Amino acid sequence: MSVVNQDRNDEGARPAGEAIRQASWFGLDAQDGSQSDADHEAGGLYVGVVVNRAFDHVLTYRAPKKLVGRIQPGQRVKVPLGGARGPVVGYCVSVDLLPPKDLDLAKVRLKNVVEILDAEPLIDARMLELTRWMSRYYLCSWGQALDAVVPAGVRNQAGTRVGTFLVPSPEARQAWEEKTLEATLTAKQAAAIEELCRSEETLTLSDVCRRARCGAGVIKNLRDQGLVHTVKRRLSLDEIQTDEPEPDPSADVAPKPAAIPTAEQAAALEALGPALDGDAFAPFLIFGVTGSGKTEVYLKAIERVVARGREAIVLVPEISLTPQTIRRFRRRFDRVAVLHSHLSDVERHRHWRRIAAGEIDVVVGARSAIFAPTRRLGLIVVDEEHENTFKQETVPRYHARDVAVKRASLENVPVLLGSATPSMESWSNAERGRYTRVDMPSRVGGRPMPNVELIDLRNEKRLIGGLSDSLRQAMHRALDDDGQVILLLNRRGYNTFVICPKCGEVVKCHHCDVAATYHKGRHRLICHTCDAERVCPPACPACGASILHYGGIGTERLEREVRAEFPFHESRRMDSDTMRKHGSHEATLAAFKSGDVRILLGTQMIAKGLDFPNVTLVGVVDADVGLHLPDFRAAERTFQLVAQVAGRTGRGDRPGRVLVQTFSPDHPAILHAAKHDYEGFVGWDLPNRSGPLASPFGRVARLIARGRDEARTETYLRDLSARLREFADPSIRFLGPCPAPVLKIREEFRFHLQLRCPTTAPLRALLSDLSKPPIPPKVELAVDIDPISML
Ligand code: ADP
Ligand code: ZN
Repeated sequence: MSVVNQDRNDEGARPAGEAIRQASWFGLDAQDGSQSDADHEAGGLYVGVVVNRAFDHVLTYRAPKKLVGRIQPGQRVKVPLGGARGPVVGYCVSVDLLPPKDLDLAKVRLKNVVEILDAEPLIDARMLELTRWMSRYYLCSWGQALDAVVPAGVRNQAGTRVGTFLVPSPEARQAWEEKTLEATLTAKQAAAIEELCRSEETLTLSDVCRRARCGAGVIKNLRDQGLVHTVKRRLSLDEIQTDEPEPDPSADVAPKPAAIPTAEQAAALEALGPALDGDAFAPFLIFGVTGSGKTEVYLKAIERVVARGREAIVLVPEISLTPQTIRRFRRRFDRVAVLHSHLSDVERHRHWRRIAAGEIDVVVGARSAIFAPTRRLGLIVVDEEHENTFKQETVPRYHARDVAVKRASLENVPVLLGSATPSMESWSNAERGRYTRVDMPSRVGGRPMPNVELIDLRNEKRLIGGLSDSLRQAMHRALDDDGQVILLLNRRGYNTFVICPKCGEVVKCHHCDVAATYHKGRHRLICHTCDAERVCPPACPACGASILHYGGIGTERLEREVRAEFPFHESRRMDSDTMRKHGSHEATLAAFKSGDVRILLGTQMIAKGLDFPNVTLVGVVDADVGLHLPDFRAAERTFQLVAQVAGRTGRGDRPGRVLVQTFSPDHPAILHAAKHDYEGFVGWDLPNRSGPLASPFGRVARLIARGRDEARTETYLRDLSARLREFADPSIRFLGPCPAPVLKIREEFRFHLQLRCPTTAPLRALLSDLSKPPIPPKVELAVDIDPISML
C-alpha cells in the first residue's frame, strides 16, 4: 500500500527541492551538490524520508539497487542530511517508482539512502497516516510525531543490541546501603541512585529518568561527581525478567464471573451494541456518575470485540493504573499488556513486539498506549477522558483523547470516552451530534450520591491548621464508626510560602519566578517548578529582616496535624514526595484497602478512580487551590476535582459524607460540585467561554517564546505577533503578546500569545509559516495547539 501518492498531492508535503531551501531557515545547509550522479541509474526507487527535526517536509532520496526489494514504508533508514555530520536516522514514509510530480530532477540531485535499519516496518500504513495527521494538526514535523509513536526501547532495539546502561559507583551503592544518600545529594539525585541500586535489571538513562522522575541533567551531575558510570552491554530480550508488579497474593486473580448488568449498564450496552459488532467509526461519550459502573460497561464492550478476534486499547490516566484497575482487566482477559510509565525500555520493547505479533487482546495504558501497534483493532476506550494528563506537554504536544478519536476514525472502529465530569470539549461534541451520548445517571445498587456540605472558611477565623472544627469532628465520628477517611489537599510541602513580615518579600526559587515551598523533612526550600532546592535563608533576602514568616499549609504539614489529632489511627500521606519510590503507590493503596491505614491524605493522586467501599468521609481541605488561576479552565478543573473526590465515598453499603472547606462557597464550580450537578455547571461555565472564543467555541493556539535574554525574547514575540496580525484572517483573535503567568522558569523568560478562532483552517494557515521574523539566537518558540496549560 502506498501512503505516498496520496500524500504527494497534499498541501503539507513539499518537493524535496523546496524542502532543502526551507531547511536552511532552520540553520541546515542545502543538501545537494556533492554527490555522484549514481542516483540516476535505472531501476532505483524514489524514497520519501522524514527526520526528527523541526522542519516538516518529506525529503526525497534514491534507493540504490542493493536496497530495492528490501526498503518499505515504516522502516527506519539512514540518510545524509545537509548540515549534519554523519548520516541521520529517518523514517521511510514512501517508496515509489516515479519521482514526486513537482520535483525538478534537472535542478536537484538526489542523494542515496545509506542503510535500512529495520528488517520489518516498525509502523504500518495506518499509523503513518495517523502520525501525518498529528504533524499537521499539532504543527510539528512528521518525524517528531513518528518518534513519539515508536518508543525509545523499540527504536534502539533495547535488549537485543549493545546499549548504554548506567551503573552506580561502589561509593554510591555504599551510601545507599547506609542510607546516607540524602545527606549529600538533592532529593532527585538521591532518587536516581536509589532506583539504580534497587533495580535488578540494568537501566538505561531514560529508564532512570522515568523511574526517579528526574531529568537527564540530574544524571549528568551524578556522573560528574563520579557516582554513576555508563557501561555498554549486550542483552537479549528474552533473558530479562519483567518488573511487572508482583501479583498481590491475597488478591483473587482467578476469572470472576461478570456481574449481572444493572438496567443502566444493560441499556448502555444495547446502545453500543451495533457499533461494537460493526466496522465503522462510532464515537460515544459515556456520561456516568462516579460509581455508576462505567468500567463494567467497558469490560463487557471489550469482551464483545475480543470475541470477534479483535483487539482493544484502553487509555487510563497514569495514576489510575493501580493494581486494582489492572486486576479488573486481568481477571477478565488472558492476554493483557499493561503499559505504564515505569516500564524499562526493554519491557516496553517486549510489549510492543507482542502486541505487533497479535499476542495481546487488551492493551491498558497511559497516554502513549494510544500508539500501540495492534493488528486488528476493534475498540478504543478512554476512561476519565477529561483528565489533563492525556495531553503531552512536550513536542509533539498531542492530546491522547483526540488522537484516540482520530485513530478510531482511520481504523473504522468505535471509541468510548467515559467520565463523570466530561471535558467541555467532549460535552459540546455530544451536544452538536458528533458523539453519541450514553447516560448512566445513577450509582450501582441504588446507592445514593454522598451528601456534600460546604464549610465557609471565612467563618473560621481562629483556624490555625488545615482542619476546621466541623471537619475534625466528622473525622472522629467516621473513625469511631469504623469508617475510613480520605483528605484531599492539592498542594505538597509543609509551608507553601515564606514571606518577610517587614517588607512583604516572598522567597522565590533562584531560577524561577515562583515562590519556593518549605519542605520540613528535608529542611529546604524547594521549587515545585524546577525542583531546585535552596537552604532556608536566615534573613530576608530583600531587606535583611531576621525573622521570616512561614505560611500556607501543604500535605506535609497536614499530615503532622492529622497525626497529632488522631494518634491512634494509622494515617498515610500520598503525594509525589512520598510516592517517589517505585511500588510505594501500590503499597499504600494496599494498606488502605486492608483497613490498616484509616486516613489517607494527599494531593489529587488520591482524588481519582479509587474504589474503596469503607470510605465514609471525604474532606476537601482547601477547594480553592486552583480556582483563581489565570486560565479559562480553572473553574472546570475545580469542579472536576471536587466532584471526583466526592465520588470516592458512599461506594459501599454505608452512605458517604463529604465536607468541602472553601473561601468561595458561592462559586458556581463549588456549588454545583456540591450538588453533583454537572449539567448545572456546564450551563454556567460554557456561556462564559463563547464570547472570548475559548475552547470549545474557538480553537486555541498558544505561542510561547522563551529565552534567557528577557528583552530579546519579548521583542521577538512582539515582532512575530505584529507580522502574524498582518496576514491573519479577520476571524482570528489575538490575546497578547504578554508575559506568561509564570514569567521565568529555569532562568528562561517566557512570553506568550494566544490565538483564538472559531474554525481551525485560518489558524493552521497562519501558523504554517513561522519563519519570519527569523528567530533570534538562544530564543525558542513553542506552538501549543489546544493548550491545556496556560501558565
Ligand atoms: P465507575 O467506573 O462508573 O466509577 P465502577 O465500574 O468502578 O464505576 O463500579 C463501581 C462499583 O460497582 C465497583 O465496585 C464495581 O465492582 C461495582 N459494580 C459495577 N457493576 C456492577 C453490577 N452490575 N453489579 C454489582 N456491582 C457492580
Ligand atoms: Zn525553580
